[in-house]
Amino acid sequence: MRDDALRVLKDVFGHAAFRGAQGEIVEHVAGGGDALVLMPTGGGKSLCFQVPALLRAGTAVVVSPLIALMQDQVAALTQLGVRAAFLNSTLTLDQVRDVERGLLDGSLDLLYVAPERLNTPRCLDLLSHIRPALFAIDEAHCVSQWGHDFRPEYLQLSVLHERFPDVPRIALTATADPATRLEIIDRLSLHEAKVFVSSFDRPNIRYTIVDKDDARKQLLRFIRTEHPDEAGIVYCLSRKKVDETAAWLASQELRALPYHAGMDAQARAANQARFQREEGIIVVATIAFGMGIDKPDVRFVAHLDLPRSIEGYYQETGRAGRDGAAADAWMAYGLADVVQQRRFIDQSEGSEAFRRVSSGKLDALLGLCETAQCRRVHLLAYFGEQGGVCGNCDNCLNPPETWDATVASQKALSTIYRTGNRFGATHLIDVLRGADTERVRQWGHDKLSVYGVGKAEDDHLWRSVFRQLVALGLVRVDQESFGALVLTEMARPVLRGEQTVMMRRIVKRMKDGEARRARGATAALSLEGVDTALLASLKAWRMTEAKTQSVPAYVILHDSALIELARKRPADHDGLTDIPGFGSRKIERYGEALIKLVSDHAA
Ligand code: ADP
Ligand code: ZN
Repeated sequence: MRDDALRVLKDVFGHAAFRGAQGEIVEHVAGGGDALVLMPTGGGKSLCFQVPALLRAGTAVVVSPLIALMQDQVAALTQLGVRAAFLNSTLTLDQVRDVERGLLDGSLDLLYVAPERLNTPRCLDLLSHIRPALFAIDEAHCVSQWGHDFRPEYLQLSVLHERFPDVPRIALTATADPATRLEIIDRLSLHEAKVFVSSFDRPNIRYTIVDKDDARKQLLRFIRTEHPDEAGIVYCLSRKKVDETAAWLASQELRALPYHAGMDAQARAANQARFQREEGIIVVATIAFGMGIDKPDVRFVAHLDLPRSIEGYYQETGRAGRDGAAADAWMAYGLADVVQQRRFIDQSEGSEAFRRVSSGKLDALLGLCETAQCRRVHLLAYFGEQGGVCGNCDNCLNPPETWDATVASQKALSTIYRTGNRFGATHLIDVLRGADTERVRQWGHDKLSVYGVGKAEDDHLWRSVFRQLVALGLVRVDQESFGALVLTEMARPVLRGEQTVMMRRIVKRMKDGEARRARGATAALSLEGVDTALLASLKAWRMTEAKTQSVPAYVILHDSALIELARKRPADHDGLTDIPGFGSRKIERYGEALIKLVSDHAA
């Protein structure tokens, strides 16, 4: 069985080996077993059902909620010579009949179906006339009523088990938490299924969290130095900020488009389609831009606002680098973000318990933001995984120093106390630094003993002190009085001199970006030994090909395949078989043109 599986993997998909648990999963499902697969985004879930689909007799039925993407997935399979089709609401009646005919006469290897369609009597009846090879339930966490991707139609998928007890089922998800896992098993009747849990680490993603200073400028510098002309996603909290940021980036000559739920549906879909199909587009979005994204070559995900939880952060950043090539998760974070998130929680309609949970999740995220240790270790520990330091996050690459901030903390805490627990950070910093503002005079704060005691340090340092005091829980944000900073019980021992406070300080040894390049560690695809002029011609060829066939460029060939081509410069068909992504069908279809392009270039 394993040999057959490897043959299909190489011959059809052009890959030399299975990744991680893929081989085991394929063997289990191809042998008729049920499986629940938990793998991070980009881990390679599709092959877990696509290879068994080709090994087993009959048509594999794939349930997926992502209607917008079915077309691209089917196009990618068709490119590989796999007989695939989809059934969803975008088809005309004639097209539906064609697909149904194909299904009945056994000329389909895979059929993608939207869940609401699968649940119809017509579709179930159709399936009872064939022998399905297997059922794959993608994005299986959609059965979870507590998750934000809940799809009621998913609850009815247990019917598959009742109607087709002998057909193997494989459910797949990238959602990591144990509660969701149990819910999936329960609601889809997967009690007998073998569970495959992969590591949730995404080694190719580099995590960076910077102190927010001038967020837009920081973002622009990050994009220009690290990812010029590359595809990325920028997450913002509000629709207004999405619009403003997209417009501003566009005014800086970046190809940026907005995406949020307040936009008219057509404009929104158009922007998503451009992101998916064109190269180098940046989408600025709220978290409404989520599950429908299946683009493998997103090179960065940036957060201009704090996400709500580590789960959210992990899910959003996970959209970067699905193709396994280097990618960045970059976030700018400051005190105002903490204040804002606290406000959301305090003002939410939810129950007391809900607020407590949300508040705990925010604290966990702040812990990630403030840690001086490896971000990846921290992130994985949250999901119950252990690992060593990664060497591919900001803290590993440019270790922050910790400093004894006890005295500074005492000054900051006293200022809060002396001004009556009723002011925000901006005013408190004015008092500390001895600023002569109207507000300071109006309240008589220039008469306080703390006035000017923090003159020696700059505004930036004081902001980071207040932010870390909030993150450490010594100070809380009071929403009743418009984001005033208020002492908590935990501040007492520090004020009394009974406890020291350590804080992190970013060492600005070199400017952003310079440090990375100095270490040769920039998060970009390695172009060593690559003929860049040839690569440019290959990309131009791919663009024309993609346009004539109306498919996204990556469906023709991934960047990694073009880069290998430009590195190895194969002279004949044999040379192509070693290049990842070249199955026999792609060699047959594009081999000649590509070899000619390579040899013309050499001449
Ligand atoms: P997921 O659905 O888990 O997010 P995909 O199935 O889309 O991940 O796979 C992510 C990427 O990894 C794809 O570009 C795919 O071609 C590639 N990939 C998956 N498995 C392998 C493998 N065994 N060898 C090489 N590339 C692989
Ligand atoms: Zn690290």
